[in-house]
Amino acid sequence: MYRRANMVSGKGKRRIYSSKYALSSIVYCSKCGDIYRRIAWNNRGKKYSVWRCCTRVTHGPEACEARTIREENLQKAAVEAINQLISESSELKEIIKENIEKAITGNGSSRIKEIDQEMLKGQEELLKVANAKKDYTELADRVEELRNEKEKILLNMAEEKNEQIRLMELEEFLDNQELEIESYDEELVRKLVEKIVVYDEMLEVIFKSGIEIDINK
Ligand SMILES: [Zn+2]
Repeated sequence: MYRRANMVSGKGKRRIYSSKYALSSIVYCSKCGDIYRRIAWNNRGKKYSVWRCCTRVTHGPEACEARTIREENLQKAAVEAINQLISESSELKEIIKENIEKAITGNGSSRIKEIDQEMLKGQEELLKVANAKKDYTELADRVEELRNEKEKILLNMAEEKNEQIRLMELEEFLDNQELEIESYDEELVRKLVEKIVVYDEMLEVIFKSGIEIDINK
């Protein structure tokens, strides 16, 4: 996000982010886990684009028999899933609010203070014991344990922060989008969709906020 935020050109206009298509590198094969890639097809003079599993493209159907999907259908699925979010906007906003509050009231930082104090005590004691030429392995283990616990908490807090930002982005989108969208929107897909997984009978649209919606396409 930081990188994207900084990709602003001199005129203050936002540059298109990395790849040409929002769907590039977010569409996944449910069978082999590989990504889908875009292929332009020319069928008896009729031109259209399809997306195919890379494993299948490179190694053939014996390597992966995942289906080919028309770009049109992928785009329609994204639009339908986004519209489902919009139509459930009021319920969603409630859930988002609860989740954001939960993250804020998390007690990670108070536990970290405790750990810091315990670690300090442990290290002081360790020095004393070591200076007295006694066995300090148990104390050293304890300090190490505390350090690991602190690292874990910090990691969790960073993840929670990320999740919170994504939820707030979704909230902001829902606040500004009252009507359902009518056509496929590259920017919106980039902003909201984390992943689309292609199954035989359906597409699973996974949003950055963690919400998953199945679409029959
Ligand atoms: Zn595959």
